Amino acid sequence: MIQEDLVMTEPTSQGDVKIYIPGKRDVIVKMSGGADSSILMFLLAKYKNEYNTELNFKITSTVGSTKPYQYEFASQVVKFIDKIYPLGDYKHYHNESLPSGEFPDGEDENGFDANKEAYSDDIEKLVQSLHNKDSVQYMGITANPSAEQLELHNIADGRDLERDSDVAVPTNELWMGPSFWKYNRPFAKYDKMVVAELYDRYNLTDTLFPLTRSCEEATFDFSEHCGTCWWCKERKWAFGKLA
Ligand SMILES: [Zn+2]
Repeated sequence: MIQEDLVMTEPTSQGDVKIYIPGKRDVIVKMSGGADSSILMFLLAKYKNEYNTELNFKITSTVGSTKPYQYEFASQVVKFIDKIYPLGDYKHYHNESLPSGEFPDGEDENGFDANKEAYSDDIEKLVQSLHNKDSVQYMGITANPSAEQLELHNIADGRDLERDSDVAVPTNELWMGPSFWKYNRPFAKYDKMVVAELYDRYNLTDTLFPLTRSCEEATFDFSEHCGTCWWCKERKWAFGKLA
């Protein structure tokens, strides 16, 4: 039976975001330091403080040679959240992901980035090593803007096709109990506008948002957004600004 008093519901213009984590358990969160995983961490921290204090966070970020900023940004985000909703005895794990040496950094002429695959495999290995029988995992992945919006704002090119809303991105996987799953992507059916709504609801647009980084390009010291990569365009589309 579902414990209704442990359900946190965030209504949004695209549907409800629900968090339900019964029992004493580890919650593994993949954090890229981007806007999506950061607001997810904020909601999970709120959940721990207001619904279930027995949760233990294991936060994971990658340190790749082409994306060395993810841990850095995720880390400042986590510290910010910890001051609002104390995270308790959390641990922030990261790996050291280097290019294979076989392939140059970046995409080849077919748009395939051999090292990018290696990075996601690496972080997945770290995440899996932290799991136990009762642990659950949360990921902040959102859907791409609708086809209409992509067209209207001329931002179709360069998107990750796996995030298109007509491609089935599972919201929850591996049943652990009524309305309760091991792998959770609470934003998977919604686009980044929902993320912007949540920042706005909790007055985080001028505080937490600037601490996040969505850009996938190398910039001088990674403190700036390049403004031209697809992830920057999506960020600007949803928030109306980059930082
Ligand atoms: Zn960028």
